[in-house]
Amino acid sequence: MPSSHTGSIEVICGSMFSGKTEELIRRLRRAEIAKQKVAIFKPAIDTRFGNDHIVSHNEQKLRSFPVRSAKEILSNSHEAQVIGIDEGQFFDADLIDICNALADQGKRVIVAGLDMDFRGKPFEPMPQLMAIAEQVTKTQAVCMQCGEPASYTQRLTEAKERVVVGAKEMYEARCRRCYEPPEE
Ligand code: ADP
Ligand code: MG
Ligand code: ZN
Repeated sequence: MPSSHTGSIEVICGSMFSGKTEELIRRLRRAEIAKQKVAIFKPAIDTRFGNDHIVSHNEQKLRSFPVRSAKEILSNSHEAQVIGIDEGQFFDADLIDICNALADQGKRVIVAGLDMDFRGKPFEPMPQLMAIAEQVTKTQAVCMQCGEPASYTQRLTEAKERVVVGAKEMYEARCRRCYEPPEE
């Protein structure tokens, strides 16, 4: 069924604890109130709170479908008018073309994800998505050291890998002044 709407891509990005998932849930709930067909995806890698919900740190949640690759989003979105994707930074580079293809079909695509990794470097594919999105929202957390607005994610352990899934015990939000980049 072709859509009468112009499709679009919205990106919600920021550090951990900045309210990305909360904001994604808020937008998706409003779409449901408007009786639009909503499909929600998250990468199967993020098993922090079980596999079948997107969950925010203030314990809001919405049922979602875990996928192993960005391609699986395309094949499970035929019916949807609004598509929500959480933890976008954990997807492969295909996510960019897939979001474009879905938006070209007239769908509203909303992607939440980390804009930077724990080293303070852009976290692909989020920067590429930000470039092609109609709308970008940067959310900020509260710096756990000084209380200022925070845009960085400080890893509190020595692990060097880029992807280490964890929450409060492993990461904290920091402002530019309090953030200490890890050693190479
Ligand atoms: P994200 O998806 O960006 O990691 P969530 O939407 O899951 O963020 O969580 C946002 C919620 O986290 C806030 O509403 C607040 O209740 C809680 N929270 C915990 N630590 C912080 C912090 N340092 N700054 C802001 N909110 C925090
Ligand atoms: Mg989140
Ligand atoms: Zn600070």
